[in-house]
Amino acid sequence: MRALVFEQTLSFRPRQAEPAQNEGDALIKVRQAGICATDLEITKGYMGFAGILGHEFVGDVVSADNKELIGQRVAGEINIVCGRCDLCLSGLSTHCRNRSVLGISKHNGAFAEFVRLPSVNLHVLPRAVDEDAGVFVEPLAAAFQILKQVKVEGKADSAPGRKWVTVLGDGRLGLLVAQVLRNANCPVRVVGRHSEKLALCEKWQIRSRLLADIIPRHDQDVVVDCTGSAGGFELAMQMVRPRGTIVLKSTVAAGKPMNLAPLVIDEISVIGSRCGPFREAIRALAEKQVDVASLIHRRMRLEQGVEAMELAERPGVLKVILTMD
Ligand SMILES: [Zn+2]
Repeated sequence: MRALVFEQTLSFRPRQAEPAQNEGDALIKVRQAGICATDLEITKGYMGFAGILGHEFVGDVVSADNKELIGQRVAGEINIVCGRCDLCLSGLSTHCRNRSVLGISKHNGAFAEFVRLPSVNLHVLPRAVDEDAGVFVEPLAAAFQILKQVKVEGKADSAPGRKWVTVLGDGRLGLLVAQVLRNANCPVRVVGRHSEKLALCEKWQIRSRLLADIIPRHDQDVVVDCTGSAGGFELAMQMVRPRGTIVLKSTVAAGKPMNLAPLVIDEISVIGSRCGPFREAIRALAEKQVDVASLIHRRMRLEQGVEAMELAERPGVLKVILTMD
């Protein structure tokens, strides 16, 4: 089959072996897949992964033990878990000690004609979630995870229950997070570097500011770092108020030495946030509560995968979608 493979370098391979199927697995013919910052970070060494990239996809089940799944259009949860370790048994299966992760760790991903996943990972997409929206289920679920971890509701203008929440970063994930927080009645503001992306916020009636126009004042209740850069955390530390919360959404390969003393002095809570609830993301997409169509920058064929990854890396570029046909 055709696939986009990272093994020290990124290359399109016209004759990659098709995935072998284990018991409990489904084989899915991929329709299209989205390029995410994590894919770009992997090509810089993040996770030390080698294999087929890609974890945001929509496809059709061609074979499965569960016959009801065959022919269904699905999105898939990315953690492949053991179900037996202490973390799985205590309900923290996304943190399974023996997990592999689709296109990120020890499991080939979806930038290919076919992908294999356990049937239990699959979610059948309703008709109201079209092929494009389906690609956003996984990143949107990650955005919803924030609501599971932090209380963000509260009116911006009425003390004492007021909250000031900043999403730092106007990229693919930041713009999904901003919409999810707005829908949760959170008085959210997006701070980013690209006026053309911040224009989308205006269209969605979400407040936004250019990074160059703000002065960090240690006054935000919650700062969500979606910058995808090593510097985002440091900036978040300058923006959050004492006893405030920083939510980290960026996965960055490069580390950066920094002084953590301000976290102690200001008693800041730092919350790492990764994968989230697929059902809620699918419902939000089906009910058109989140605009994802505006986030699509370009569609490219799998054969153009190397160029597509280069494009997705450029500043100002939102979602690049790979199509498999
Ligand atoms: Zn486990």
